[in-house]
Amino acid sequence: MPSVDLHCHSLYSDGSQTPEQLVEQAAAAGVTMLALTDHDSTNGLAEARRAAELAGIRLINGVEISAMWQKQLIHLVALNIDPETPILKAGLHEQQQARAKRGRLIADKLENLGIENCWQNVLALVDNDENRVGRAHFAQYLVSVGRVKQLQQAFDKYLGNGKPAAVPMPWAEMNTAITWIKAAGGVAVLAHPARYGISQTKLRLLLADFKVAGGEAMEVSTANEKPNVILNLAALAQRFGLDASQGSDYHGVNMPWLKLGKFAELPAGCQPVWRRFEEINT
Ligand code: AMP
Ligand code: MN
Ligand code: MN
Ligand code: MN
Repeated sequence: MPSVDLHCHSLYSDGSQTPEQLVEQAAAAGVTMLALTDHDSTNGLAEARRAAELAGIRLINGVEISAMWQKQLIHLVALNIDPETPILKAGLHEQQQARAKRGRLIADKLENLGIENCWQNVLALVDNDENRVGRAHFAQYLVSVGRVKQLQQAFDKYLGNGKPAAVPMPWAEMNTAITWIKAAGGVAVLAHPARYGISQTKLRLLLADFKVAGGEAMEVSTANEKPNVILNLAALAQRFGLDASQGSDYHGVNMPWLKLGKFAELPAGCQPVWRRFEEINT
């Protein structure tokens, strides 16, 4: 199993565990370098760092930023950032406020569809911190009240693009988000490029723009990706001169099919992004 896992979530976004539990579990699974990458939040990093020191594993400060490229929602994993950088902090704060606002709007829509006490119950899932609310929490609630059987169905039926409880989001443009990451001394990684449902041609356009904007790496190996997809991503990384990243996208019990450190090794020929961090002691 790979010992470097550069993508996972704690309860500071839509994961189920505290950063401390996550780090301890990663260490027990043989992970030696872990990046905590909560959605639009760096709030778990200090706790994760303390736990990583105790567990003797290397923690990379990360965050997964929601962004837009040509009206397409994409995710950027920022690695090795200084979370105290003002421009990054301000940008993430805005995104968190947008999450809170969207949360109320989604709850209104679901309540109009007959799903009662939605906001109150979803808030209970995030320790009453409305800035953490994500669509996955609504999906969890919809499963718990029996409206749908699985998370996936909640997106297909209610929360996905164009569905009755969808709310458009003012996420930062990709170029802007990359500016924040670079200002914070981090590396911008395009997350799970095969999951956007875009054509190969469009993906190449995205990668070209990403590179021009200062993007430096892309995820090549993520959990549950087919071997031929991983090989294609590896070839694209080489073609665009991007380093390769890897990670489980672990979300704890919310997505039990994902496990820390569990995904395929990078294909030969990739330039692993974490080589950049091996020399640095932060
Ligand atoms: P948000 O950032 O709040 O819009 O939520 C995005 C998150 O929802 C992703 O990071 C996943 O954790 C989850 N998600 C998105 N699409 C799906 C899906 N089709 N099935 C299950 N979970 C999903
Ligand atoms: Mn998520
Ligand atoms: Mn993502
Ligand atoms: Mn993720």
